Amino acid sequence: MVLDCTTINAAGHLCIGGCDTTELAAAYGTPLYVMDESTIRTALRQYKASLNENYPNGGAVAFASKACCFKEMYRILQQEGCRADVVSAGEIHTALQAGFPAEHLYFHGNAKTDRDLQTALEAGIGRIVVDNESELYRLDEMAGRAGKCAEIYLRITPGVDAHTHQFIRTGQIDSKFGITLENGDVLRVIGDVLKLEHVALKGLHCHIGSQIFEADPFVYTVQIMLQLMADVRDRFGVTLTELDLGGGFGIRYKESDTPLNCGDYMRTVSSAALECAEKLRLPFPFLVIEPGRSVVAPAGLTLYTVEHVKKIPDVRTYVNVDGGMADNPRYILYQAPYTLMLANRADAAAEGPVTVAGCCCESGDLIQENVWLPACERGDLIAVLATGAYNYAMASHYNRLPNPPVVFVNNGQARVVVRRESYDDLLRNDV
Ligand SMILES: *Cc1c(COP(=O)(O)O)cnc(C)c1O
Repeated sequence: MVLDCTTINAAGHLCIGGCDTTELAAAYGTPLYVMDESTIRTALRQYKASLNENYPNGGAVAFASKACCFKEMYRILQQEGCRADVVSAGEIHTALQAGFPAEHLYFHGNAKTDRDLQTALEAGIGRIVVDNESELYRLDEMAGRAGKCAEIYLRITPGVDAHTHQFIRTGQIDSKFGITLENGDVLRVIGDVLKLEHVALKGLHCHIGSQIFEADPFVYTVQIMLQLMADVRDRFGVTLTELDLGGGFGIRYKESDTPLNCGDYMRTVSSAALECAEKLRLPFPFLVIEPGRSVVAPAGLTLYTVEHVKKIPDVRTYVNVDGGMADNPRYILYQAPYTLMLANRADAAAEGPVTVAGCCCESGDLIQENVWLPACERGDLIAVLATGAYNYAMASHYNRLPNPPVVFVNNGQARVVVRRESYDDLLRNDV
């Protein structure tokens, strides 16, 4: 099975976390996001354990909220002793409302507004990850006015090509994020930062991309970043004590994908950091990693009901379902691959390639093309696997579709963690 948390029961129904998907669909309706809680907790524990076992100076696992953001996620992170990345005042608000400690938040963003920075200062966010010089000087001034000193990282663009889809690659020189290493900007900016009174540079940050399957790009990145820390020490006599390596660890969307498991990524990255710091005679920095997708994507699936099957002889068969780009825009955005199953006859033989299409008034609203499914008809239940990341988080109200609920399952028990939006919720801000 593509997802470890799924099984097929005697009735031939797809199950997740010990719950029968046909019963979940009947109880909560479709479209429906379902997530297996123990898969999330296990991934967080693997990252933490592997970091602690393989790296003497410890570190932190900061889940990238943007992958999956609602209050229950922050409660789980807190229970598991993890921290969190946030990229907007809205994510900060969600975290704080869930009781998550502000000092365990890392605030990212390449276009932070004054209001964002004000929110972060007032809340006492642990680290503000400064993306560019304009932000740096605005933050210094605002912190000064507030009588504070902001603890920051600088986001560096190390120029590592992680061989992945160009729309989700962010470590390149051609990137809207961060301060570019190649053209010599970085040391000049760091020199300037060190002169400022109301920001304290605690460390450096980088994030090289997403859905990366090898450990090599991360090893290479660790070496580049530690070399930069050694350069900072040699040039300015300042030893930075924290290094944030970002996220981007890959997951299995298709049977043919072969990601490393969370522990293996961390083991390789930790030992590379150890070896390299020793060589450069740097004290081991506190390591931060920011996995998003790899924590939540393999925990989730989305259930849809088939509304209509349209067969166009010699062209293709469309299986039209009751959700689509409003709850999962990833196919229309960048042809994201997914594995699909017929959840109510999960053991039936596949019959031929079909296109599973969404319900939005937009021809490009497809969930997946060329998928092999058993013959299906109106009323059948389709499961799209590995949708725990960047689905609920990317949902829109296109065509005034209310957002589906998120249901957590665990050992045969189900509970709603985000309610289904009502039609009145859609009107909340209309005057
Ligand atoms: C998106 C992002 C992450 C998480 O990436 P995944 O591919 O979901 O692991 C981590 N850090 C930063 C700065 C990001 O922008």
